[in-house]
Amino acid sequence: MSELSSPSKVFNLFKEFNFHTNKKLGQNFLIDSNIISKIISAADLRSEDLVVEIGPGLGVLTQSIADEVSRVLSIEIDRKLQPILEVNLKEYSNTKVIFQDALKTDFDRLVYAEAGGKSRSYKVIANLPYYITTPLLMHILESKFNVELIVIMVQREVAERMTAPPGKKDYGALSVAVQYYTEPEIICRVPKTVFIPAPEVDSTVIRLIKRKLPPVQLKSEKLFFNLVRTAFNQRRKTVLNAMQGSNWGLMKEEWKIILEKAGIDPMRRGETFSLQDFAMLSNCVYETLK
Ligand code: SAM
Repeated sequence: MSELSSPSKVFNLFKEFNFHTNKKLGQNFLIDSNIISKIISAADLRSEDLVVEIGPGLGVLTQSIADEVSRVLSIEIDRKLQPILEVNLKEYSNTKVIFQDALKTDFDRLVYAEAGGKSRSYKVIANLPYYITTPLLMHILESKFNVELIVIMVQREVAERMTAPPGKKDYGALSVAVQYYTEPEIICRVPKTVFIPAPEVDSTVIRLIKRKLPPVQLKSEKLFFNLVRTAFNQRRKTVLNAMQGSNWGLMKEEWKIILEKAGIDPMRRGETFSLQDFAMLSNCVYETLK
């Protein structure tokens, strides 16, 4: 386990390299070896794995990942961390740090180049600023990158939204998207105290196993997600009122027919809809609009 998971070591590094954490980049560094072990074991790492790590920071997780797998590609936005990472990773010849914005990175292309022009699947491990976790996840999932699984630290409320079942107050468009693309599982809760400096919110490590096949058959993914957004934008309304009040260009009577065909009670609220309900509805809308 990395010796970087000691507060005094981290403070010494800051001093030695005259490094000041950047709040805007969400630089809260993990100092708890127990949490690091949980992240590593959640990723179920095999020696033949290639891992893309996002936001290596000082390299604490990078070292632990590199102990387990053949190759680690770490994407870090902050070049000021380069001298620290060079020192902390100098004994890890199987790691490579790429300084760029993960949100603008084509992960498949990066891995393709790294694997000598061959496509291959990979795992993603990330501990990132919270304001970019959802956009980053959607970037990975919607781009349909060749990712097997993602282990990511997120704000506690976001983990609850990702895993919420229909009808719960946390259930929303993010739950549907994450559960459509992956099987999410909460791994552990993480208190603020295990970071330097401590963030303002509590965190949760979540694992998302990418589905090999979609859980529902869709005639149009785009239409499905537009419909989900419409339903949750007005989540307190019945589905009939929410749909009719939106700009789908369909009259109330047409919505009634569509809902009947989909076998959905028009008085239900979208927030109670399972993935199957949304799929039935969106496939019926597709047939009507085509
Ligand atoms: N993984 C380290 C750890 O667990 O201690 C660092 C985690 S720290 C919460 C987040 C890291 O992500 C920082 O090093 C930060 O500079 C980096 N980062 C922030 N935005 C990024 C982006 N858009 N692309 C890549 N890295 C980013």
